[in-house]
Amino acid sequence: MSEQPPGRSLCPSAQPEWQGSVAFGVVRGTAEEPRVTNYPEVLPVTEDLLKLAQPVHPTEVFRFAAPCLCHGCVHFKIDRCSLVERIVRILPEVVRSLPSCAIRSHCRWWQQEGANACFRCPQVVTENHNPSTLMRKAAAVTQVARGEPVSRGCQSQSASL
Ligand code: SF4
Repeated sequence: MSEQPPGRSLCPSAQPEWQGSVAFGVVRGTAEEPRVTNYPEVLPVTEDLLKLAQPVHPTEVFRFAAPCLCHGCVHFKIDRCSLVERIVRILPEVVRSLPSCAIRSHCRWWQQEGANACFRCPQVVTENHNPSTLMRKAAAVTQVARGEPVSRGCQSQSASL
């Protein structure tokens, strides 16, 4: 995790262009039932990695984590991530035990919702063109804008960073 700047929780549904972004999982399964397999260690975002996703966008193939945009993100409401709140409330659990995850200690979803987030996390594809009805409801705002954070005013949410 040396790629991460200290003091910020990580968004596990980040874009590769965000500062400090790393890849932590790859989408497997089917279009109807995608399942993310997490890597034992995070991977740096390189041109070679991004090319592996072609011809689709990298966020259709990989999961990326980067420092949470906080108030620069449409999902961030009153110091909480509303996206993971909806995920926990709306989506079913898809695993019965905690998936191994290289970013867990820094993950905002884990810090906020604990195991309830992790039990649902493997079905989340950041850019999903074939979402289920439940996934559509959970996403609510379809995609976070790509590109540079519009706010860097987030305070540390993680004592371990
Ligand atoms: S919610 Fe859980 S499994 Fe998903 S990225 Fe965060 S720590 Fe990992």
